[in-house]
Amino acid sequence: MATDDELRQQHKTLAETLTEHRERYYVDDSPTVSDAEYDQLMRELEQIEEQLPELRTPDSPTQTVGGRPSSSFEAYEHRERLYSLDNAFSTEELEAWHGRLLREGVDDAEFLCELKVDGLAISLTYENGKLTRGVTRGDGRVGEDVTNNVRTIKVIPHVLTPSDEFPVPAYVEVRGEVFFPTQEFEEFNAAWAESGKTPFSNPRNAAAGTLRMKDVSVTASRPLSMVCHGLGYREGFSPERQSQAYEALEAWGLPTSDRAKVVPDLKAVEEFIAYYGEHRHDVAHEIDGVVVKVDQVDRQRRLGSTSRAPRWAIAWKYPPEEVNTRLLDIRVNV
Ligand code: NAD
Repeated sequence: MATDDELRQQHKTLAETLTEHRERYYVDDSPTVSDAEYDQLMRELEQIEEQLPELRTPDSPTQTVGGRPSSSFEAYEHRERLYSLDNAFSTEELEAWHGRLLREGVDDAEFLCELKVDGLAISLTYENGKLTRGVTRGDGRVGEDVTNNVRTIKVIPHVLTPSDEFPVPAYVEVRGEVFFPTQEFEEFNAAWAESGKTPFSNPRNAAAGTLRMKDVSVTASRPLSMVCHGLGYREGFSPERQSQAYEALEAWGLPTSDRAKVVPDLKAVEEFIAYYGEHRHDVAHEIDGVVVKVDQVDRQRRLGSTSRAPRWAIAWKYPPEEVNTRLLDIRVNV
């Protein structure tokens, strides 16, 4: 049994290690450990904080989002915060999350199940239907203004299409994930390696590096894509359900996923998770899990968020796959 002083020392070392990994992952797009190893270190930090709650300070990696915005781009303060997601790695943890909803009085939740796209988060602002800004998540409060890069992504409309059912609002922040489709990534990375350059470790890092290029023509030359998975600040748009918000986004011409599904209970959530555990390669992009959200927006508001993540959503993470480790080895060894 470690003493409190030993735990404090372990906490300090782990927090520093995690901060360095975040810098390499979010700022340099060049991680040196796998996501599973990172998640394991984070778990260890959480366990120490359970034993010594005074170490759970607001600047601990367990309480903060992402990395600092890179100085290569202009910093932009989001009008509404972007969050991370809490994770579940087992049925027990999923049930514990559900138990917390019930304890908060949300006993009639319907669950919106979505694929967890392994890319990087983006916030798009549309003012009177016109795309005016694209900003990365950064630390959740301040991100990098990558508007010019975002404008080169073909699936992102510069102007929203008006719809009779869903009038285009005066102001809306649309959140989503920018990704490199798997097939295109494999072709791109093979050609990249053939030209003598160090291959990217995975589509996620290639997407992050490509979106955050100073030379916009490089971003434009690579086939990035995007899918919407949420909303931020808005005026003149009040959907009652997140799934309804997606219908509006689709009507306006924004890319939404045809895999998202509203289900009535946890058993159906588990079926969705099991299905995509078997079929994760049937999708055009890499997924690292499933995100389960309470669909009703008023229930989401009631549940609120911690400093790091909404209480109304949880990310089920699938176990790591061989291929990532293999590619990571290539990168580290080159
Ligand atoms: P996360 O990736 O576990 O989950 C939060 C993010 O998921 C959101 O911000 C959003 O961008 C994204 N997302 C994808 N699909 C979504 C959907 N359908 N609905 C809502 N959100 C969706 O958390 P994080 O804070 O971005 O990053 C932490 C994770 O990043 C770690 O668990 C690890 O896997 C990885 N990481 C790895 C290293 C490393 O060195 N290998 C370092 C830092 C982080």
